[in-house]
Amino acid sequence: MSKPFSIGVDLGGTNLRVAVVSREGEIVKRITVSSTGNVIDSLTAAIERLFSDKINGIGLAVAGLTDGTKILSAPNLPILNEIDLVGILQGRFNTPVYMGNDASMAALGESVSGAGKDLNTFVMLTLGTGIGGGVVYNRKLLNIAGELGHVIVEPGGKLCGCGGKGCLEAYASARAMTMVAMEAIELKRETMMAKDSGGEITPANIYKYALQGDPLAIEIFKTAGFYLGIGIANYINIFGPDAIILMGGLIGAWDIYVRKAIKTAAASAFKYLFAKAEIIPSTLGGDAGIIGAAELTYC
Ligand SMILES: [Zn+2]
Repeated sequence: MSKPFSIGVDLGGTNLRVAVVSREGEIVKRITVSSTGNVIDSLTAAIERLFSDKINGIGLAVAGLTDGTKILSAPNLPILNEIDLVGILQGRFNTPVYMGNDASMAALGESVSGAGKDLNTFVMLTLGTGIGGGVVYNRKLLNIAGELGHVIVEPGGKLCGCGGKGCLEAYASARAMTMVAMEAIELKRETMMAKDSGGEITPANIYKYALQGDPLAIEIFKTAGFYLGIGIANYINIFGPDAIILMGGLIGAWDIYVRKAIKTAAASAFKYLFAKAEIIPSTLGGDAGIIGAAELTYC
């Protein structure tokens, strides 16, 4: 019989977040430690503090590629590449240990106790520096490549970090918007943002100027939103979801960026499928990955 709690871990580039999560997907206790220094020692020590005989197992959410047992490539935490972390933790705590990609884990988390709790099928997108996501289909997390940020939205378009051209991430991510803003400032385009050039150009300050009516800042968010909408239309036509759940820093720009995406998706997707797909924000935010990882021990 399964035990009532699990340990969920979010292995991030700056912090390791470890939490005790209930079977219902509520975080009941948490510890955050720095991921600089000896990651394995820090992680083991944090789990040690939370471990008890009520723990069903340990789930790890990894920002990178994993085959479910090993981290194949974690660009933000290279020290863990090819290390048998699952084996190490299983040996140390004598409990089942599972691992999944952080965006997929976030989708799973939303299905347990977040915005996807009552939904059969949804696509979750994380909109940040890059774009990732996961798909829950008929209440099951799909075990697919799921590189949702790398669908092509502009054939032959901008070069993406993945080596492809015209990917969604190259147009609608925070990194993409920041690059467009910096290029425009370099070309001396008229914008209030240039006066801020002493500071850093971030999506938050591009949005700030967009709200003040700066045409360039508005154009940047609307263009990014347009491409996001093309991506969303494709996911809607493929999966026929009950919802598209959006998460990540960029959803703070909902009124311009997401609104444009919704309008574009409405005009591009199958009408019937668009009508049944709500486009909604995540309710768990940064905790979704930990909750999803903990859920792996019950899957
Ligand atoms: Zn790409």
